[in-house]
Amino acid sequence: MANDVLVVAERSGGQLTDITYELLGKAKELAGAAGGRAAVALIADSSGVDSLGAADVVYTVEGPGLEGYSPEAFEKALGAVVDAADPRLVLMGTSTLGLDLGGSLSVSWGAPLASYVIGLDTEGSDIVATSQLYGGKLLAEAVIDGPKAVCTVIGGSFPADAGRAGGSPEVVQVDAPAGLSELKARFSALREPDRSGVDITTADLLVSVGRGIGSQDNLELVEELAGALNAPLSASRPIIDQGWLPKPHQVGKSGQKVKPKVYLCFGISGAPEHLEGMRNADTIIACNTDENAPIFDVAHYGTTTDLFDLVPELVERLGS
Ligand SMILES: Cc1cc2nc3c(=O)[nH]c(=O)nc-3n(C[C@H](O)[C@H](O)[C@H](O)COP(=O)(O)OP(=O)(O)OC[C@H]3O[C@@H](n4cnc5c(N)ncnc54)[C@H](O)[C@@H]3O)c2cc1C
Repeated sequence: MANDVLVVAERSGGQLTDITYELLGKAKELAGAAGGRAAVALIADSSGVDSLGAADVVYTVEGPGLEGYSPEAFEKALGAVVDAADPRLVLMGTSTLGLDLGGSLSVSWGAPLASYVIGLDTEGSDIVATSQLYGGKLLAEAVIDGPKAVCTVIGGSFPADAGRAGGSPEVVQVDAPAGLSELKARFSALREPDRSGVDITTADLLVSVGRGIGSQDNLELVEELAGALNAPLSASRPIIDQGWLPKPHQVGKSGQKVKPKVYLCFGISGAPEHLEGMRNADTIIACNTDENAPIFDVAHYGTTTDLFDLVPELVERLGS
């Protein structure tokens, strides 16, 4: 319907992910302001409707060729849902799925695309999308005044709570689109990263380290602190890129999204790509010698003490 807002649901390990609920909460708000409905597209797997109570309507589409993720097949399936739902706005994450499908839906549906969105508001009957440019160094506002648009939204931009509300949405089964048996590429297998015993996504407390540590040899310092606190060690991307820690330790846009109770970080500047992975931590404590480092914009507590002074002191006080 003309004022509906449609969320493209995402899954990981079969479960609907946070971004789905973050977008659904926002869809509810935007659609509610315009007298429309909050809708969700469940592509390939229609399970999980009972956890989408915040939606007014859930569109499901299943069929051969949709068993594993294939951009081509999902593109066709999403097109079928959008035709059936006829929404004003389609929301998806700035994720593998959203990056694949956002641009192609924009072209096939003939709707403008706002990408890297971190804010969505209404101004009268218009929707205003705030997007990150240059990795977050600039913000751009786009006024969506036309009848339809697509937005890909950065994870963590909106709270997920409103999207987890209870309710019983109408379920509409959409027929599988034609052409799913003539795909040029087919899903073969999903290769999960080797987590080598560490899963930073489930930890309540994370000790995290960035380029400020200076060298691989110095990592021992923070490893000792992490050990004393019985917390896994996580890191910014340069630490992983230099091979100082394995990939499963990486926090951020191209790493893991974490939401610990406490994120204790040392020598991390707070680049937007890093913040994307950890800004939803309950409490962020940052140590950075540069008082202007952007990590202090999101930190609840911070110190400009040199990490090489602070970490040994902490270890000593913890009695390790
Ligand atoms: C497409 C893309 C994806 C990306 N994905 C990710 C990602 O997933 N995760 C990620 O982290 N980055 C990612 N990045 C990289 C990101 O842009 C930054 O380059 C990176 O986060 C910077 O890491 P850092 O904060 O450790 O290093 P720096 O930015 O170099 O910061 C080091 C900080 O340490 C401080 N410091 C130095 N010495 C000390 C000391 N003795 N005591 C205390 N503080 C000190 C400095 O003041 C500085 O602020 C991505 C980039 C792109 C383009």
